[in-house]
Amino acid sequence: MRPNIPKELIGIYDETEYARQQTYQKANSRFSFISGSFSFVIVLVMLLCGGFGYLDRLVRQITENYYLLPLLYIGILMLAMQIIDFPFEWYDTFVIEEKFGFNKSTKKLFITDALKQFMLTVIIGGVVLFIVLFTYKHTGKWFWIFAWGVVSLFLVLMGTFYSKWIVPLFNKQRKLRSGDLRQKIETFAWNAGFEFQNIYIMDGSKRSTKANAYFTGLGAKRRIVLYDTLLKSLEDNEILAVLAHEIGHYKKKHTQKSLITSIITTGVTLFILSLFLDNPVLSQALGSDTPSFHLGLIGFSFLFAPITGLIGLIINSISRKNEFKADAYVKRFNLQEALISGLKKNATKSLTNLNPHPWYVFWYYSHPTLLERIKNLTTD
Ligand SMILES: [Zn+2]
Repeated sequence: MRPNIPKELIGIYDETEYARQQTYQKANSRFSFISGSFSFVIVLVMLLCGGFGYLDRLVRQITENYYLLPLLYIGILMLAMQIIDFPFEWYDTFVIEEKFGFNKSTKKLFITDALKQFMLTVIIGGVVLFIVLFTYKHTGKWFWIFAWGVVSLFLVLMGTFYSKWIVPLFNKQRKLRSGDLRQKIETFAWNAGFEFQNIYIMDGSKRSTKANAYFTGLGAKRRIVLYDTLLKSLEDNEILAVLAHEIGHYKKKHTQKSLITSIITTGVTLFILSLFLDNPVLSQALGSDTPSFHLGLIGFSFLFAPITGLIGLIINSISRKNEFKADAYVKRFNLQEALISGLKKNATKSLTNLNPHPWYVFWYYSHPTLLERIKNLTTD
């Protein structure tokens, strides 16, 4: 958060806007430090006081059924997490984002969103967990292979139908009306040799003023989705540049590659899980003498956390490289200047930090910083 803007970026914020950006950054950092510490303390207390084992004994008084016990146990934990999280998300949306003019969500919308998300987790998570339990019961130590198949199928289905099945629960997507912009996009996509099912405009403005664009779907189902907020803030050629970037991701097969990466890491994780799951030590460590699937799963997720962190680090690093490659694709159409001005607009509009520490970027960022992207776009 160094206060001096890099010389390449001088002029994109005026003095008052930059001061506002710094305050926003501080508010966000402080908030994530407090909420992160809070959840850390809760997990610590649960571990030290044997809270997981205690909950296990409680749920066993209701049912000891092979399927119902773990489903209910994990359901209760998820609900507790959601309830603990709720005030923090509320504060983030209605205090921080509100103060800086980003929030467009109403209290009613916020609550229905939270309820819908919880129901989705219960339904999808419940079905996946049920199938995993079923394979564990019938295939024993080979369960990981079957579970892997099920989770992979789920990942492929989500990749293909996410914007068709899940997004409509939260947002309205309408087809981009025929007109100047649609004409330009179609011509551009045709020149780039990119076929798509349709272009959709999503009402992102109903929650936040922040803008985004993405394209989703595999194979013939792919569609381009632009946030209405993006449409409002960018000129046509800037939108084309953003589109060229997304097509770059598609041409370099980034979506397929990241899907394959998730499938491989899932397989490895499930295999290692299968080596630990029968070990009663995991349940004992969480405060229960009765070994069980659900306690084994939770104990494993704690032990595996450092490796999850490492995998995240590698995935972020690949993702940043992919962003550079997608940006390089934009140069083919000579749209790099338009992309730069679009990125600048987006960065200032969402009060982005222009000076993140390189180690922070290395650890957390899935996208390169604005400065790195501009440098990459302006050099050959
Ligand atoms: Zn990208």
